[in-house]
Amino acid sequence: MKISKLSTYRVPPRWMFLKIDTDEGICGWGEPVIEGRARTVEAAVHELAELLVGRDPARINDLWQAMYRGGFYRGGAVFMSAIAGIDQALWDIKGKALGVPVYQLLGGLVRERMKIYSWVGGDRPADIVAGIQKLQALGLNTFKMNGTEELGMLDSAKALDAAVERIAGIRSAFGHDIEFGIDFHGRVAWPMAKPLLRELEPYRPLFVEEPVLAEQSEYYRRLSDMTSIPLAAGERMYSRFEFKRVLEHGGLAILQPDLSHAGGISECMRIASMAEAYDVALAPHCPLGPVALAACLQVDFASYNAVLQEQSMGIHYNQGAELLDYVHNGGDFSMDGGYIEPLPLPGLGVNVNEERVIEASRAVQDWRNPLWRHADGSVAEW
Ligand SMILES: [Mg+2]
Repeated sequence: MKISKLSTYRVPPRWMFLKIDTDEGICGWGEPVIEGRARTVEAAVHELAELLVGRDPARINDLWQAMYRGGFYRGGAVFMSAIAGIDQALWDIKGKALGVPVYQLLGGLVRERMKIYSWVGGDRPADIVAGIQKLQALGLNTFKMNGTEELGMLDSAKALDAAVERIAGIRSAFGHDIEFGIDFHGRVAWPMAKPLLRELEPYRPLFVEEPVLAEQSEYYRRLSDMTSIPLAAGERMYSRFEFKRVLEHGGLAILQPDLSHAGGISECMRIASMAEAYDVALAPHCPLGPVALAACLQVDFASYNAVLQEQSMGIHYNQGAELLDYVHNGGDFSMDGGYIEPLPLPGLGVNVNEERVIEASRAVQDWRNPLWRHADGSVAEW
């Protein structure tokens, strides 16, 4: 079998699908994208295509190394996202060619079902309690919300109180019938991370995510030494070489590699194993589409330390399309009771609605994250 063609489709809400065709008629799908930089990743995918067309898609390990090591400069969000989507599509082809789900090729299931969680409340959460009630009605019981709106490097007691009161309100409304993680989203700098973590501790969140930006990952150890809240990060780390540093340094309880940003299934399986060796849990980041989610699930079902899977159903970013709009087998993604079962179809387990993808790609708008500013006019982290 030989790879014959790579086609990319940018689609709403802010995703991109990659289809890899072969000369034997089997095709594979991936989701190589950086939210807000889809065109840049698209260019990288087509540049890498010269290493792929005419090659045997079964040789995933060699193709991965050729893409990664074959260029003198490597790594980073754009390039590793391009490799990630290509890697997903190659695993999809391999599974379809052999007639088995990808998790079988990774050694088989370590669990019967995977716990999932949902985003709630958006960027400026006004009524988070109502949002949780709505998702609870769909059978969900684990959530994640933003910890703050924009926060200055040194902000007021009032700003801290607003963040803490919102979390306190959730606990008083639901008690411990629900669980939730809190995403600091890189909005909190080191001077505010300490007081905010300390004040949130009584509400016992499942985890705090990106307590400071990944660029400041040397602080994770110091923050974890002063709080009992498990700390999570990883959506802005792109290879085992970056995860190696945070594991060595300590502090993180949960790694959150993104299957569409950190080199795909091949690299995230390696990251998962490294985390297991350090007794660190895995919770893949996934605010993306169905192919990215399916890739996450393949890793989750084959990795002992996978504890939680993010998914984008109903997420505030999904303007114009939803998780299951581009698939024929939406029923396989049923999330009853807060769990999802292994996807039964061969390959990644997604029967992509290609016509719908092509149609949606014709009128797509470029998505950008907002550019926030502080009261003094300086740029704020979103
Ligand atoms: Mg996050």
